Amino acid sequence: MTIFQKMLIVPLVSLAIYAGFIFYANSRYKNSNESVLEIRDDYIPLLDIAAENNQLFKEISQVFKDAVLAGEVSWIENNQKLKERISYNFFQLKKNEQIVDGWSLNLATQYFNEYYLAAEKFAQSIISKSDDFIQSDDLNLDIELFYNQTKDSFENLRTGIYDRFREKINSTNSDMKQLLFWAGNLSILLILVSTLVTILTSFSTRKNLWHLNRRMKALATGSTDFSRRLKPTSRDELGTLIHWFNKLSVKLEKEHKQLENISNTDKLTQLNNRMSADNFLSKAFIDAMDNGTPLCVAITDIDFFKSINDNFGHHTGDEVLITFAKILKENLRPEDFIARWGGEEFLIILNNTKLDEAHKLIERVRNSIATYQFSIEKNITASFGLTQAKSNESINDLFIRVDKNLYHAKENGRDQIVVDES
Ligand code: GH3
Ligand code: MG
Ligand code: MG
Repeated sequence: MTIFQKMLIVPLVSLAIYAGFIFYANSRYKNSNESVLEIRDDYIPLLDIAAENNQLFKEISQVFKDAVLAGEVSWIENNQKLKERISYNFFQLKKNEQIVDGWSLNLATQYFNEYYLAAEKFAQSIISKSDDFIQSDDLNLDIELFYNQTKDSFENLRTGIYDRFREKINSTNSDMKQLLFWAGNLSILLILVSTLVTILTSFSTRKNLWHLNRRMKALATGSTDFSRRLKPTSRDELGTLIHWFNKLSVKLEKEHKQLENISNTDKLTQLNNRMSADNFLSKAFIDAMDNGTPLCVAITDIDFFKSINDNFGHHTGDEVLITFAKILKENLRPEDFIARWGGEEFLIILNNTKLDEAHKLIERVRNSIATYQFSIEKNITASFGLTQAKSNESINDLFIRVDKNLYHAKENGRDQIVVDES
């Protein structure tokens, strides 16, 4: 995923999630609004009916009282209509069993009927002053009881409906509250995820950039270590950049090695050249001095080489030089350093080798050259100067000594090795 995509994806996904949620919340809000309206339509008429019953009941009891006070039996008949209205209302309430509690409704009906019968009987007996009047005191007490029971049961019925109404509204409200709660939580969650992704992306980008920056600076300011590769921690544009940077490093490393080889190799013999020998010897010399290990150096010069050129031509001379280099390589150890020092002179550096061992090795080389059948009908020999590096001397001192030894080898008749006198 690209950095650009990473930067965009989280806000876009968050936006999509949030838009989806808003859409969902909106439909939930509409539903809840509708259900509030429905609840209102269902409950308010029933509450009105229950309230009307309360009112009607008050009126009935008032009519009974008025009829008694006025001594008018006919007035009681007025209650008939009110009673019918209450019964009709009860019928209406009963039709809404899912809202109105049946038990409360039955109780209210029962109490009301008991009250009405008793009150009617009581009123009639008082007005007509019949025998029942004698028991009117007891009846009066019953009426009061029935009245209170009825009044309470009517009120219970109404409050029962009202409580359910409130419950319904509250549960719809709590839906909305839950929605708000989730809206808040979702916002926080999306912000947290966005922040986290941004932090992770910026950390990985910063880390990659830091490494890339460091490597580029090192190479730009002269480091020739092209061997190090960077490990991209992400597969984005920066990862691709690091991939191509690594490819470039591989190419540069290869080309640098080729150039190094060319600059350190003698074109004719493919041995190390003088510059390479200088560098190698400087390091080997310091190491030997630091570690106290023995270091031997030999210089060899082909005897009467000029006459080979003169007699067989320069080209043959070149071939002899190539063969000579091959013999040196074959007779020395892989760790020994061989370089063409110039013309028909070669330098041999025997690292970590004592003088007597070096002498044996060089003797083997000398003998191999002297006995080798070159392409020309002539034996070729070489003279050698050999020496071991001494502590507290310079490379120059070492060279003066080994040159002197070579000079003595030539002086003494060639085809020989001259070693330091101990
Ligand atoms: P000595 O035994 O005293 O070393 O005698 P020499 O003839 O070997 O010594 P001298 O220094 O007189 O001659 C070296 C010759 O090597 C001279 C030069 O022409 C020849 N030479 C140097 N470099 C090359 C080369 O690359 N190819 C060829 N063919 N000859 C070279
Ligand atoms: Mg020479
Ligand atoms: Mg020579």
